Amino acid sequence: MSAMSDPLLDGLQQHLAAGGNVQDALAGLAQSELGQTDPALGLLSQFLARREQTLERDLEVQENEEDRLEARARLEEVRRLEEARQLEEAQRQERRRARLERLRLRLEELEDDLAACQARLDELALALGACPSCWGEDAGCRLCRGRGRPGFLRPDPEAFRRWIVPALPEREGSPPTGGAAAPERTAL
Ligand SMILES: [Zn+2]
Repeated sequence: MSAMSDPLLDGLQQHLAAGGNVQDALAGLAQSELGQTDPALGLLSQFLARREQTLERDLEVQENEEDRLEARARLEEVRRLEEARQLEEAQRQERRRARLERLRLRLEELEDDLAACQARLDELALALGACPSCWGEDAGCRLCRGRGRPGFLRPDPEAFRRWIVPALPEREGSPPTGGAAAPERTAL
């Protein structure tokens, strides 16, 4: 074995000293006169060269595998982030939808309240003989031209009984009859 090792080492050292890597050195050695003149040494050199190629290939495969795993891990992370983002977006949409629904219901309530207030105000204007549009506060009012304060019109008897009479002292609690019984301010 030692008789074979020395020429091999010498050959390797020569090739390495000339520059280049081990693989090239071994391949060169296998082609060299030394390799050709000693078949066993040539075979060993070829074997070592192939072995190194195999190891480099294995290493390359392993590195590729590690790259692949790393890329897959990154992809998984991106997917997780995307799923989390989508979930958050869906929750945000749901909160917005619920808020809009609450606002819509609230708006409906307010519209109902406003309609009820408007209806009561109209009835009160009837009871007081006031302009239902401006109550005499708008000189540009098409109905009364600003003259529609309470008493401007003959109070509606039914509305008067319902809204005004309960607030009057006992003796004054009789509903107006016709235009003659209109409240005093009508005379103004
Ligand atoms: Zn008016």
